[in-house]
Amino acid sequence: MSSEVIPTRTVRRPPARATRVVQADVCVLGAGISGVTAALEAAKLGRKVVIVDGAPALGGQAIGSIIGTLIGLYTHGPNPYQLTHGIADDLLRDLAAEGSLRRLHRSTVTFQYDEVRLARWMERKVEEAGVQTLLGAVLTDVSFANRRVQYLDFATRFGAVRVQATGYVDASGDATLCYEAGLEVREPDAPIYGSMNFLIEGYDTETVAQMDIVEVRERLARKGAEYGLVRHDGWLMHFPGRNFMLANITHFETPIDPLATARMVFEGRRQADRTLRFLQTEYPHIFANARVRAYGNPGLRQTRWIQSRRPLTLEDIRAGTRFEDAVARCAWWVELHNTAELVHWEQFKDGHVYYIPLSCMLPAEADNIVAAGRCVDADSHALSAIRVMGPCIAMGTAAAHALDLAGAGSLHAVDLASLQKRLRDNLDRTD
Ligand SMILES: Cc1cc2nc3c(=O)[nH]c(=O)nc-3n(C[C@H](O)[C@H](O)[C@H](O)COP(=O)(O)OP(=O)(O)OC[C@H]3O[C@@H](n4cnc5c(N)ncnc54)[C@H](O)[C@@H]3O)c2cc1C
Repeated sequence: MSSEVIPTRTVRRPPARATRVVQADVCVLGAGISGVTAALEAAKLGRKVVIVDGAPALGGQAIGSIIGTLIGLYTHGPNPYQLTHGIADDLLRDLAAEGSLRRLHRSTVTFQYDEVRLARWMERKVEEAGVQTLLGAVLTDVSFANRRVQYLDFATRFGAVRVQATGYVDASGDATLCYEAGLEVREPDAPIYGSMNFLIEGYDTETVAQMDIVEVRERLARKGAEYGLVRHDGWLMHFPGRNFMLANITHFETPIDPLATARMVFEGRRQADRTLRFLQTEYPHIFANARVRAYGNPGLRQTRWIQSRRPLTLEDIRAGTRFEDAVARCAWWVELHNTAELVHWEQFKDGHVYYIPLSCMLPAEADNIVAAGRCVDADSHALSAIRVMGPCIAMGTAAAHALDLAGAGSLHAVDLASLQKRLRDNLDRTD
């Protein structure tokens, strides 16, 4: 090792703060599964893309909140088929090939994924696609005039950045772009609960096969309060080969308030620790030596979403209405976390499919913003079904194509026949 002292220089911040300006065709705010999909698809279409996230890594909740299971990509029942293709195909193929994805087919097809590997997959894909990536950048201002976003301003640890683009994707999960632009947005008037997922290790990987989740839930309902637990249902999912178990079993309120974030972290971790104590005490033959390996970030389900000209409704998804501006399909059930104790489920019959229209992704008051993911416009029940990751991928794909067709014009006037032709795999394939 060299003992030579590294020379230093003295600097002072210039009196006028410099703002770095980044220009692109498409700016995606939010690097969760919806935003990453939109960015990759827009890059495939030859667009210059910048993706921005306040977190220091890509992935949003899919990675940071350790969601661990990809749902909503298939129809339900004994003969399921895949509803969303394109980037979903790449993701399934690549992660399965390296053993980081496990397909399960019970009443529906779900995929357990290794969130560490999915994060690396996203990073590799975004780099290969030439997407400019701005991380650790929190939106501070939106310049909005004549129904168009002109630019977005961000604060980073290392100075201010301005992003100017022709079109924008609000994939922030909380409709932050639209809210900061001064547009009308929707918020639920009653709590829709979030959860902190966490990983458990050190349990007995042989006897865990005897664990019956239905019995665990019954015991939680009878005895959970003794341990300070509020939720009576939820999931404990062992990932064979990894020897970790994913727990999605907590519930807490998720107000959009700057000081609430820390409270959610503390409450989520407290509930996780209490769950572990419950498992150790009630099922010592499996959990006597178990520990929490990792806590996810607070998982937010339905916090704030855009106001479009027409929200998707529960009636629409029950009826399977195929809208004239349909851009994505889904089959996931209503899964509304509207009480602390239990999730409200409404299951559809096997093979039922419903559609997501472009109109519920477009804020009524803007021409160059399209939302994708958990902040599109729907009533509470319909949103609880389409916010899962399968339809998030489908919406991200549709958002990229809609912006590509709109160019400098209005998203409300894109040629729907051309758009649907591009999206036909996600609308019509049944193989
Ligand atoms: C506990 C829980 C369990 C779930 N379980 C499943 C499951 O098993 N399977 C499944 O498929 N789905 C599940 N879901 C749903 C699904 O995970 C999410 O709805 C989906 O991941 C949302 O993706 P998104 O891209 O829309 O948003 P997000 O993943 O929330 O991404 C939004 C991104 O925007 C960024 N952002 C927001 N505001 C700003 C700002 N002002 N400045 C800069 N960046 C900003 C955030 O940092 C974040 O990275 C679950 C959700 C939760 C909460």
